[in-house]
Order: sequence, then C-alpha cells, then structure tokens
Amino acid sequence: MEQCPSCGASNKGEKTCRRCKLDLGPLMAVEENARIHIQQAFDAFERQDSSEMLFHARRAFSLKKSKTAARLLAVAAVLNKDYDLAVSLWVRILSRDPA
Ligand SMILES: [Zn+2]
Repeated sequence: MEQCPSCGASNKGEKTCRRCKLDLGPLMAVEENARIHIQQAFDAFERQDSSEMLFHARRAFSLKKSKTAARLLAVAAVLNKDYDLAVSLWVRILSRDPA
C-alpha cells in the first residue's frame, strides 16, 4: 500500500500509518489476496483453463478494482463468451479508472 486511504500520507510497506496511525494491515491483506488471485488467473490462462481464469479474475477485481484486474477480467470474460461483461469492463477501462 503506497498511500494511506485515510489521510493520504505516503507509506512504504508499514502496517500502521505514520501520520494518522490507521491500522493498514487488513487493507494490505486484501491487496495481497488480490495480487495472488491475479497471479492465479495468469497461471490458469497459461494452462488454457478459461473458467478457472474467470474465477480468479473475478475475485481479484472484487478485492481491488485495479486496471490490471479489470483488463484480466475482460479477457477472461471474452474467453468464456461473456461478451456483455467484457464490453462493460472495456468501456470502464477506456473511460476512466475502473474502480
Ligand atoms: Zn494515515
């Protein structure tokens, strides 16, 4: 977590914000879980397991609405022929931050 979501202070991996003392541990755990699901989605893609890729991409995007997670979910949606989801994500990606 590069920035405290409460006060905006920069953070270099500390579990407590240096300025407002917010406990960042739970939020960092969510980010880490999102990162793990992104990696698992890429691994599933390499195995050509599109349904597993979609599962992990959905989990990653639900945990953290990053552009990487949105793009990964859009690709997984296409591979699973869920074109409505893919288009809606792509529109969000092109228009602004996917969050
Ligand atoms: Zn703070």
